[in-house]
Amino acid sequence: MAARPMPYLDDLNPAQRAAVLALDGPVLMLAGAGTGKTKALTSRIVHLLATGKARPNEILAVTFTNKAAREMKERVARLLGQVEGMPWMGTFHSISVKILRRHAELVGLKSNFTILDTDDQLRLLKQLIIAANMDEKRWPARALAGLIDHWKNRAWTPAKVPSSEAGGFNNRGTELYEQYQERLRTLNACDFGDLLMHCVTIFQAHPDVLEQYQRWLRYIMVDEYQDTNVAQYLWLRLLAQGHRNICCVGDDDQSIYGWRGAEVGNILRFEKDFPGAQVIRLEQNYRSTEHILAAASGVIAANAGRLGKTLWTEAKGGEKLRLIGHWDGEEEARWIGDEIEALQRGGRRDPVSLNAQAILVRASHQMRAFEDRFLTIGLPYRVVGGPRFYERLEIRDAMAYFRLAVSPDDDLAFERVVNTPKRGLGDKAQQDIQRTARASGVSLLEGARELVVSGGIGGKGAGQLRAFVEGVDRWHAAILNARPQLADAVIEPMLPETPPHADLSHVRLAEVILEESGYVSMWQNDKTPEAAGRLENLKELVKALEQFDSLQGFLEHVALIMDNDTEDATEKVTIMTLHAAKGLEFPVVFLPGWEDGLFPSQRSMDESGQKGLEEERRLAYVGITRAERLCTISFAANRRVYGQWQSQLPSRFIDELPARDVDVLTPPGLYGGGFGAAAGLGGGSQIEERATRADVYNSPGWRRMQDRSASRPIAAPKEGRSSVIDLAAVSRFAEGDRVFHQKFGYGTVMAIEGDKLDIAFDKAGTKKVVAGFVTEAQS
Ligand code: ATP
Ligand code: MG
Repeated sequence: MAARPMPYLDDLNPAQRAAVLALDGPVLMLAGAGTGKTKALTSRIVHLLATGKARPNEILAVTFTNKAAREMKERVARLLGQVEGMPWMGTFHSISVKILRRHAELVGLKSNFTILDTDDQLRLLKQLIIAANMDEKRWPARALAGLIDHWKNRAWTPAKVPSSEAGGFNNRGTELYEQYQERLRTLNACDFGDLLMHCVTIFQAHPDVLEQYQRWLRYIMVDEYQDTNVAQYLWLRLLAQGHRNICCVGDDDQSIYGWRGAEVGNILRFEKDFPGAQVIRLEQNYRSTEHILAAASGVIAANAGRLGKTLWTEAKGGEKLRLIGHWDGEEEARWIGDEIEALQRGGRRDPVSLNAQAILVRASHQMRAFEDRFLTIGLPYRVVGGPRFYERLEIRDAMAYFRLAVSPDDDLAFERVVNTPKRGLGDKAQQDIQRTARASGVSLLEGARELVVSGGIGGKGAGQLRAFVEGVDRWHAAILNARPQLADAVIEPMLPETPPHADLSHVRLAEVILEESGYVSMWQNDKTPEAAGRLENLKELVKALEQFDSLQGFLEHVALIMDNDTEDATEKVTIMTLHAAKGLEFPVVFLPGWEDGLFPSQRSMDESGQKGLEEERRLAYVGITRAERLCTISFAANRRVYGQWQSQLPSRFIDELPARDVDVLTPPGLYGGGFGAAAGLGGGSQIEERATRADVYNSPGWRRMQDRSASRPIAAPKEGRSSVIDLAAVSRFAEGDRVFHQKFGYGTVMAIEGDKLDIAFDKAGTKKVVAGFVTEAQS
């Protein structure tokens, strides 16, 4: 082995090298942000391949986002040069899909099952709730979806839900869960949570299948291990049980998915599950300059019960963190936009490209102000991390057409588009289709066909329905005739062999579908102002298809994505949530909205105990440590949240920033001699003391802001607590949030109206309560 050159080892430090060389047996790499964990993990893959210790298809690497997987693939390809085939790299979900497609029949599905999105899921649950004679206003689908998700994150099939947990949803939760799973099976569909749960079920019930994967996937690597939930943990443990060649990499300080069932305990339990595990710690941070690292360490130090880590960097000096307050969210967006353009132009510093700059927000509603501003000034940006694009109506309709073309028995897709555009099929006609399909035990499309053939459908709908059915037939045939081109040559084709005949590319087919179905002309004939934008989006959708090999591949991607950025060459600023930014790095980072109630979130502040607040603090740590050279934190005195003005106080986390690592900037124009002046310094320069919130409140700038705010119906701030907590608490809950009420118990927020919440309580039904009386439910 020593005879071969291993250049990829040269740019690793001794601890990283140890992690790379320790190929056999369990390894836990536990280290702070930017210490090169992911780099070491990637080098390990390269090492396994370069030394011939493993073939590509014997390596499984799990990452947290598709973006991370893509980056890892690129890094491996770069380090390795030409390889025949790539290891299994992807998210838990994307890898689970691959496994599940091969063994779908073991959980009662066919290998071409569809992956449902939230919309489909809610529609289905609603049907079940109504069929169960429950009032869907009192017992809303969204609440049931949350409950089922909670169970699936723990890999509990309906039969496995412990009785202590089965009482929810008017005592009918598990019964509906069972019916839902049954419906999914009939529809040949899965929801997101199923992907993992089904795999775990298969592994547990079919030792032969599990053994096969254990034999294949001899080396397992997991990045961001601190954020695995119980189902993912079981999945991993089952796969690694035999050979125990598992290397997990994580940072307890970056555990930010507790609210979604992640258990940081998994990382702490690793040594117990895998006795004899080597634990490797990395301490040198290669990403950030000294001040940035010190600021992040200062904030996270306030958390109790950390494993504790030393972090240092050779990048001494550099710019301090910048802290700036603004009048309101719009002004914050304006300032950041100007700042980004100034950085891009260079001047005092080297020019910073737009790709190198990111805005990381706590809540997605913060994005809009930036999008509005950047559209106005023509600053190119990309929004990453939200399913925003794919949630638009026209995109979802188009996708339903594509789904039908791929799987004509996708009843949910059928329901969505059979009368969109209008085909003269009223409720009655649609019920007839449903009834016919049910009577013959066939899909809705087949039901429709029967009706058309038997003449059981009248009026002008008949001809149009026939055209629709024939259209789907034609599109489906085109897909069957197209040769699948699988990107990952290593992974065997999952589809049966199809004849090598392809007249239409999948991109062209998509256009044909949208044209022939009349969907495009529907929007062309639409006179509403949005129609043009919708047509643009459809074009963008077709363009996005170019990056995929087939419609199927595309649909799968969309079903799985957490990051929807269709990469293109134009330089753009990135806007994303802090959650989505995990593992990434940018030379320049803006962290807006550091205000109590927004960051940390109101829920975490209202909760008794520190659990929620500590998770928020870890999120702050994640945010700051994304920055390589320049990090700017900002807050606004007023913010409009869900249409309501609130006066804000700077985040308590600002108190935790070490003063010597922070420059407090004076916002330009508005209140000259702002916070910096309060601390005895003029015009936008540094202050020596701690940048405490008291400095801020006592500053003339703040007072002036209060005067201005007097013209708006908001309360004056009180020290230490957000001035409008009681009034504003409400807006900080979002629909779908799980909450707890002293008297009514657990429930889900259904609607928000002023300071009142409509809550669907698990046991007490739907009630209107004042926001101040509920807290976030502890999971
Ligand atoms: P996070 O906790 O944020 O996921 P990480 O520990 O995974 O961070 P990486 O992303 O692997 O850290 O590395 C951070 C940066 O440091 C990257 O730009 C990487 O290329 C660089 N880096 C890592 N190790 C070294 C090294 N030994 N020498 C030089 N640069 C390094
Ligand atoms: Mg990483």
